[in-house]
Amino acid sequence: NGKPIATPKRTTDILHKYGFSFKKSLGQNFIIDVNILQNIIREAGISETSGVIEVGPGIGALTEQLANAADKVVAYEVDSRLLPILDDTLHNCGNVQVVHQDILEADVKAMMNVCFDANQSIHVVANLPYYITTPILMKLLREELPVSSFTVMIQKEVAQRMAAQPNSKQYGSLTIAVQYYTDAEVVMSVPRSVFMPPPNVDSSVLKLTKKTEPPVEVDDEDYFFALVQACFAQRRKTLRNNLRRHFSEWADRDIITAVLDETGIDPVRRGESLTMEEFAGLANAFYRKFR
Ligand code: SAM
Repeated sequence: NGKPIATPKRTTDILHKYGFSFKKSLGQNFIIDVNILQNIIREAGISETSGVIEVGPGIGALTEQLANAADKVVAYEVDSRLLPILDDTLHNCGNVQVVHQDILEADVKAMMNVCFDANQSIHVVANLPYYITTPILMKLLREELPVSSFTVMIQKEVAQRMAAQPNSKQYGSLTIAVQYYTDAEVVMSVPRSVFMPPPNVDSSVLKLTKKTEPPVEVDDEDYFFALVQACFAQRRKTLRNNLRRHFSEWADRDIITAVLDETGIDPVRRGESLTMEEFAGLANAFYRKFR
């Protein structure tokens, strides 16, 4: 099958052949180490029956390895300059379909209906463009796609926040948002030297495994997420203070204290000490009081 794309020599050759110059604004840092890619694919649990959705194939380094391991790969790439390159580098990979679209605007659910079998297990695997890591993952999670897992290379700090435990400085509203839908685990840290060009930040591989059921029962998801965000608005302030500020326009201070009392959560605690269950209890109590 020839040499993999993910080597310094082949990547440089491909870039020269097409006169390609990296766009920093699109988060273009390509992987030039095939071992890293194989480790990612192993962590993702890809088998020859899997369907894979990739975001940002670049020149196809990861796509090529995914095509060898999986049944089918659909890859979304926004940069039109990469399309002729991918046609060339992936010409032997008949099971890859490149979609020229901004992932944030894509109807992924509709694509999945067309491109994958109804009973096939589907995984998202990607070396994400770091400038939009959170919007991409939140979009894919909130759309509740029939996807089993997400295995993504992202900025280390963001991976730590998504996989954080209560009472740590990384724990916040992003943690709750991600862990509401998935079990999150940082599975690998990755040196800057495996990218061309090397990024200015450290990277980790995060694996998100879809929960079969929501971990808590919330009356209204948007209300729940907004309340969680409010509890972390000023991290150093107590729950009572953050919630007073959140509800200030239309709720009496005493009502805030009364609802907190009802839930049994100490109003002088900070958001970072609350578990998902406690946040759910809090959100439902305020929702029922005010709706
Ligand atoms: N997968 C390749 C690799 O690992 O070598 C490239 C990864 S690079 C970090 C991110 C890729 O995402 C680039 O190819 C970039 O053009 C693409 N990209 C950036 N923004 C995008 C968007 N909104 N939708 C789809 N692809 C995007």
